[in-house]
Amino acid sequence: MRRGFIGGNWKMNKVLQEAKETVENLNKSLIFSRGIDIVIFPPYTLLFFLKDLIDLPNMYLGAQNMHWEENGAFTGEISPLMLKDLGVEYVIIGHSERRTLFGETDEIINKKLISALKHGLKPVLCLGESVEERKKDMEKEVIERQFKQDLRRVPINFLENIVIAYEPVWAIGTGLNATPNEAEEMHKFIRTLVEKYANDNIVEKIRIIYGGSVRVENVEELSLKEDIDGFLIGGASLRADSFSKIIEIFNEVKGF
Ligand code: PEP
Repeated sequence: MRRGFIGGNWKMNKVLQEAKETVENLNKSLIFSRGIDIVIFPPYTLLFFLKDLIDLPNMYLGAQNMHWEENGAFTGEISPLMLKDLGVEYVIIGHSERRTLFGETDEIINKKLISALKHGLKPVLCLGESVEERKKDMEKEVIERQFKQDLRRVPINFLENIVIAYEPVWAIGTGLNATPNEAEEMHKFIRTLVEKYANDNIVEKIRIIYGGSVRVENVEELSLKEDIDGFLIGGASLRADSFSKIIEIFNEVKGF
């Protein structure tokens, strides 16, 4: 059985005091489950302070982005060495907000992915189609293109360190989630891509999580799907009570 994965993407939210309170509340309210990795992705400015506050053996720190170079003249950027230095274990690569608002191409995402793996960071690679692409029934074509380009030249033995997040762009922050059947169909499709481009051993190991308006109200029906190994959560991860409740429901349904 694959381990579950629940990530909380805080995006550009919270100053230090709010962040400390959230982590302290998570320490109190989260149930310990051996079968789930829980990762919070705060803004860079908070990583240093939160590292020592996390008090659960299965809770880790992640970053929302990184540059692919180790250092140099890249004003405003953060390198994988800097993230490692702070005890960061995971990094989100290719979030749709990075792709659409900051012009990240599949070529850039591929460089970041390779660099993260080389530095021992575990990437959460986000793939997802836009609303226009879904309306034209192009979702599988888009995901296959992103998958092939983003994972180009990634050594097969590194693949199992990657978590793939299927995040349809039309579902992020909109309150509109993919139905459990829509999500499951895409997760199965992504697993066939892993089989096609990698190999059989990895197919069963790689974790494929769903992101897009996951809330306390819809997490049970999504968790019931076999190929949904967890979630990347934006809005509902900002409050410790909703994030903990989502994890509790997921844990119960999956029976970890
Ligand atoms: C996200 O930012 O990855 C996300 C899924 O956001 P939300 O849960 O708010 O839709």
